[in-house]
Amino acid sequence: MRFVPHFTDGQEYSHALGKIVCVGRNYIDHAKELDNPIPSEPLLFIKPSTCAVPLDAPIDAPFSQGTVHFETELALLIGEKLTHATDTEAEEAVVGIGVALDLTLRDVQSKLKEKGHPWEIAKGFDGACPLSAFLPLDRVPNWSALTFTLDIDGERRQSGEGSDMIFPVASLLSEMSRHFTLLPGDVVLTGTPAGVGELTKGSELHFTLTGGLDLTTRVVE
Ligand code: ZN
Repeated sequence: MRFVPHFTDGQEYSHALGKIVCVGRNYIDHAKELDNPIPSEPLLFIKPSTCAVPLDAPIDAPFSQGTVHFETELALLIGEKLTHATDTEAEEAVVGIGVALDLTLRDVQSKLKEKGHPWEIAKGFDGACPLSAFLPLDRVPNWSALTFTLDIDGERRQSGEGSDMIFPVASLLSEMSRHFTLLPGDVVLTGTPAGVGELTKGSELHFTLTGGLDLTTRVVE
């Protein structure tokens, strides 16, 4: 069954989910916590649409393959075709904002990185992108004022602000569109702030996003 993005009012988007384009290391604090250099251009990768599952359903992952890390990210729903877009065209193409988890098999990824191999099996497994409903946008928001949070079992674990992004939304999207055409129904994940950690079975996750998104979910036992 294909995943169809939906809005916070329950309405389904007119396009099924396409690809999920992601950026690694878009917050200085997170690059530092994983001992990675601060990039001079965005490190882009793609998760297939088969990764997507509703964020409010119980979260499952291939725990038998090693450590599963959560990365909480601002998610952008794309509503127009973007190829070599300008910053303005790019940000005007966003029709919704939500939160997503970029689930990562960190042990698997570390081994792949050591060998210089692609990361797909560490980040592209079924269920690797729990995705919230999207707050509909009728105008370009003040990206730098957007904040999102993740609490696990009542404790604040991640907190991100648009103003802390190394590559802000408009330039990130226009850069992506120089490498991959973005289509209506594609989703862009904008990178994770510091605080990533191991997803543990049975824990309760609470997410908020400026503008009214507030949801609680659970990791399977
Ligand atoms: Zn990520």
